[in-house]
Amino acid sequence: MISEAQQLLKATFGYGSFRKGQEDIIKRILQRRDVVGIMPTGGGKSICYQIPALMFQGVTLVISPLISLMKDQVDALEKVGVPATYINSSISAAEANERLNGAIIGEYKLIYIAPERLGSQLFLHALDRMDVSLVAVDEAHCISQWGHDFRPSYRLIKEMIDRIHSHPVIAALTATATPKVADDICDLLQIDRSDVILTGFGRDNLFFQVIKGQDRDAFINDYIKKNSAQSGIIYAATRKEVDRLHHYLIKKGFQAGKYHAGMAENERNENQERFLYDDLTVMVATSAFGMGINKSNVRYVIHYNLSKNIEAYYQEAGRAGRDGEPGECTILYSPQDIHIQKFLIEQSEMDQDHKDNEHEKLQKMVGYCHTEGCLQKYILAYFGEMDANDCGNCSSCTDERPEIEVTKEAQMVFSCIKRMRGKFGKTFIAKVLTGSSDQKIRSFGFDKLPTYKIMKGRTQKEVSEFIDYLTAEQYLSPANGTYPVLTLTNKAIPVLRGEEAVLKKEKVQAKQFVVDDELF
Ligand code: ADP
Repeated sequence: MISEAQQLLKATFGYGSFRKGQEDIIKRILQRRDVVGIMPTGGGKSICYQIPALMFQGVTLVISPLISLMKDQVDALEKVGVPATYINSSISAAEANERLNGAIIGEYKLIYIAPERLGSQLFLHALDRMDVSLVAVDEAHCISQWGHDFRPSYRLIKEMIDRIHSHPVIAALTATATPKVADDICDLLQIDRSDVILTGFGRDNLFFQVIKGQDRDAFINDYIKKNSAQSGIIYAATRKEVDRLHHYLIKKGFQAGKYHAGMAENERNENQERFLYDDLTVMVATSAFGMGINKSNVRYVIHYNLSKNIEAYYQEAGRAGRDGEPGECTILYSPQDIHIQKFLIEQSEMDQDHKDNEHEKLQKMVGYCHTEGCLQKYILAYFGEMDANDCGNCSSCTDERPEIEVTKEAQMVFSCIKRMRGKFGKTFIAKVLTGSSDQKIRSFGFDKLPTYKIMKGRTQKEVSEFIDYLTAEQYLSPANGTYPVLTLTNKAIPVLRGEEAVLKKEKVQAKQFVVDDELF
């Protein structure tokens, strides 16, 4: 059967061979087994359900959260002769009815719908009369409250599947699922965990770098100047920042566009179109931009601000180099950004459990900016891929500063945390270590600890930064919560006992490592 799939790949889509993961996923679907496919952005998820859709008897229902993407997908399918349609709020009720009738009489191989449609009785009644062989759940992480883009109407999917008499196969696909989210997808759609296919998340063609302590506007100005012929995206955290940065780039004479949810729809669309057709080289945008945009020649993605978590970061950064050619992913790290993200979490309407979960994810994002290990490997480990090799390419892997031993300093920090009984956060720990005269220290009696003042010659900033490093390297673990307290992990124990050493890259340019004194 897979050879028939291969033929279709060539004959219909014009591709010579399957990509990593595609074949495994398709094989399973063709055996009529449910599957959760986790592939990186640009990995080619659509083909995974489009080819089985062509091979199965009835119609394939594709649930997609993105209205703009539906039209693009349907247009692309029609172009290669595949009968497909979509039903969403952009078409009239009469048109929707007509398309539904078409689906009932077997006119289409694929129908794309928005998840909200599953709440419509009219739609469900029409569904009863269709021969549905496959349900493809695109952006399947939207079903999980632990994912980064929860859509309550995704919860209607299981009910809808149970209603269909023909027992369709379920293919849930996503680019961003932590092990926790993957588990949730399995639970909610009742898919066996052995049917999760995790394709290598690594993107060999991407170069990751973290830039700290530099003037961000100046960095961007230089960067775009050097890459003026290339297409790139700059993500900023707020609409205001996007407006400001866009204005700055225009003043500098760049062909920049902007995109955020506060702009009028036609202006937004126009900017997007111009960027897609290379009329604008740089797009400055909030995270509202890019979902479902298939521009393959984006050469760089710069994050002006810290992302709220690794899922969001990797998804956005992954928009670089979708054509397989080199792409650069840069994050301009400034510790102040953590406050913005924390504020947004606290302002949200999530319950406390979810807020804690978001804080924990934010902490992992901060860890990315502090690690000296391979950046790509850090991301892959976050998604549960533990056996990846160093990429050899990122700013950590190519950092040639010599390593120095910092075991003694690490022991001081660990021992202090232990004596403070693991009940305090970084700033306070740094204060105790540097011997601050803070009244709170005295009130807890920490000025009597042998570790009080033990790192006296250092500034609080330096010590804080060092604690961030130890956290990123997982010697310390921040407990969940708005004010994470730091505790020792198992990795710290042999260091405390003097059985293992801690190494850190030597500082060369103090300027590059400016760290705010109050991160947590
Ligand atoms: P995503 O996983 O992000 O949804 P898409 O399905 O949009 O990715 O595919 C990304 C790009 O890769 C598309 O341009 C698609 O046509 C192309 N593609 C998918 N599968 C293959 C393949 N086997 N060989 C070559 N190109 C492919």
